[in-house]
Amino acid sequence: MTTTGWLDGDVALITGAGSGIGRAVALRYLREGASVAVFGRELDRLQSTVEAAGADADRVLPLVGDVRSADDLSAAVAATVERFGKLDVLVPNAGIWDFNRSISRTTPDEIGAIYDELFDINVKGYLLTVSTAWRELVKTEGSIVMTLSNAAYYAAGGGPVYTAAKHATRGLVTQLAYELAPKVRVNGVAVGGLRTDLRGPESAGLKDRSIEQSFAKRDGERGPNMWLPLHDASTDPDDSTGPYVLLASKRNASVITGTVIHADGGIGVRGF
Ligand code: NAD
Repeated sequence: MTTTGWLDGDVALITGAGSGIGRAVALRYLREGASVAVFGRELDRLQSTVEAAGADADRVLPLVGDVRSADDLSAAVAATVERFGKLDVLVPNAGIWDFNRSISRTTPDEIGAIYDELFDINVKGYLLTVSTAWRELVKTEGSIVMTLSNAAYYAAGGGPVYTAAKHATRGLVTQLAYELAPKVRVNGVAVGGLRTDLRGPESAGLKDRSIEQSFAKRDGERGPNMWLPLHDASTDPDDSTGPYVLLASKRNASVITGTVIHADGGIGVRGF
């Protein structure tokens, strides 16, 4: 019997795929039979994704660029189509976090600087990613799967800037699903609580700090399952990749658009 993947023959472009959830989605898409273009700021991180692909490395195309640059993204879309012939799935995912900087712990100047940098990457970056790629997705009747967050729904997944930015991406899922129908489906995955290398804004001196350090600090203070009913935040990002496969699958999700799957360990069941 021949087993086939859910994304056999598809081509995906994933931003922020040199680490964390983007990298896990890239490796999962490969296992499901897709070819993947992995886009990110640092070549060495992207190379580590290529290396992790092992025997499938010939189906990975590393592309260096910044999601704040329409030129970088346009070049990445063109390179993807040149190498693999088309684009079926777009995963806007690259992002930064605000390390829970609350309104009472920041000055107006600081909050303004964090806003400018974080919204540029987390919101404008998603918009530019879609803006430069949607025409290719129309050709293949493909889809977009955006990385959202528990912070797109609930308090305390970040400070006000991060929470507002992730709420904004919820708006993008709804509006773009409407605008790009009927050819292109647009959905999101609201992941939550992952021990990744998620960094903070350079403008706040948080470029080299990662969310992993915050989780490690909290481990000492509280039990692991205090706020995540299913599991603690040490979960392998690969555990969150299933919804990305489902939503990208033309065979299994052809009637799904404008939807967000909550893959957050059940944060919401406590009724925030
Ligand atoms: P991560 O830092 O491991 O991955 C993000 C990637 O994006 C990094 O490789 C980084 O280099 C890249 N990147 C950042 N800014 C960029 C830019 N301007 N241009 C190009 N690439 C850029 O962190 P992650 O946790 O995997 O984050 C991925 C997504 O998941 C983000 O959108 C984040 O908001 C979201 N998320 C993470 C968590 C969590 O707990 N880790 C929870 C909810 C949502």
